[in-house]
Amino acid sequence: MKKIILTGDRPTGRLHIGHYVGSLRRRVQLQNEGGFDEIYIMIADAQALTDNFDNPDKVRANIVEVALDYLSAGLDPAKSNLFIQSQIPELTELSFYYMNLVTVARLQRNPTVKAEIQMRKFENSIPVGFFTYPISQASDITAFKATTVPVGEDQEPMIEQTREIVRKFNSIYGETLVEPEILLPENEASMRLPGTDGQAKMSKSLGNCIYLSDDEETVRKKVMSMFTDPGHLQVSDPGKVEGNTVFTYLDAFCTPEHFAAYLPDYADLEELKAHYRRGGLGDVKVKKFLNNVLQETLGPIRARRREFEKDIPYVYEVLQKGSEAAEAKAAQTLSEVKSAMRINYFDDRELIMQQQEAFANRAAQAQARENGRRRGKKK
Ligand code: ATP
Ligand code: MG
Repeated sequence: MKKIILTGDRPTGRLHIGHYVGSLRRRVQLQNEGGFDEIYIMIADAQALTDNFDNPDKVRANIVEVALDYLSAGLDPAKSNLFIQSQIPELTELSFYYMNLVTVARLQRNPTVKAEIQMRKFENSIPVGFFTYPISQASDITAFKATTVPVGEDQEPMIEQTREIVRKFNSIYGETLVEPEILLPENEASMRLPGTDGQAKMSKSLGNCIYLSDDEETVRKKVMSMFTDPGHLQVSDPGKVEGNTVFTYLDAFCTPEHFAAYLPDYADLEELKAHYRRGGLGDVKVKKFLNNVLQETLGPIRARRREFEKDIPYVYEVLQKGSEAAEAKAAQTLSEVKSAMRINYFDDRELIMQQQEAFANRAAQAQARENGRRRGKKK
């Protein structure tokens, strides 16, 4: 079986370092290792519209921002298909059929959707489109026969929902769809990177982000005003590392090489954490180190972005070509789905001929009965 990646992002803002450690970094790595047969990276504009339907210009404007973030982070159009969800009508068609396989109660149980409904204060006026987006995500994944979906922890319930749909579809209509595996980030801190304010998740919608495209000074300012341990008032006080956002970011980003370059008094993060716990290590010193680590990671991404920003028509060309390739793949899957569901009426010559024969037999039988009746009358 082919090894295929599908993943993506909503064009609701520029991408932030949570996206980077949660998924983007891994995609680039997998792309460059060359172990996958096909890679599809989707800008999920149709999904973004489910809760931004009244703000289409926001979604439109962010298509190019997300694409620029992709290219500058190292996604290479020669190796990965970068495409726009709404340009693949087959995805919508698949969703319509998958809706039959999912109950309302099952969607209501989805913990990520529950949290998002709360965050968006939908209360009882949840748009149907938003409520059913896990089904649309199942279409996105299965349309490409994805085996692997590299995403953050918040996506776990979506992948589980997809797997259920695949199993149900295959059991009713025959083996057609591929069950995907989730690929979570390697380290705990990257599963769900908290916001700079210490909130559970860095999210575009919460405004607590460090963006990949933030300039050097903005990153520095955001780092210096980050949430740490509120109980750590004096440098001499013992500090808490757990739940301390600065340390969580270091968990996600820093390597022993960073220590050698910027903080040679410590061999690694464990030593730095131990000092902080003991007391005698100030927040400012740790934040300055984090700033160095982040600048080293973001600097090259920022520089590449500046270059790509000079040729926006190229960015759209990449997306158009990627969308064409993606549509060809999705159309193939949709055709298999329709054939499995017995709704491929015009392709099935055999069925048409069988029906022709059945009608001919029926007519012949009726004729024979009629003849018999006439003979009976004559006698
Ligand atoms: P929105 O608020 O519009 O939903 P978002 O910031 O949650 O935006 P998405 O586009 O929903 O971003 O997520 C895209 C990908 O990035 C998903 O794979 C998701 O798991 C991952 N991701 C998003 N935020 C984080 C985070 N804070 N930590 C780790 N991964 C994240
Ligand atoms: Mg999200």
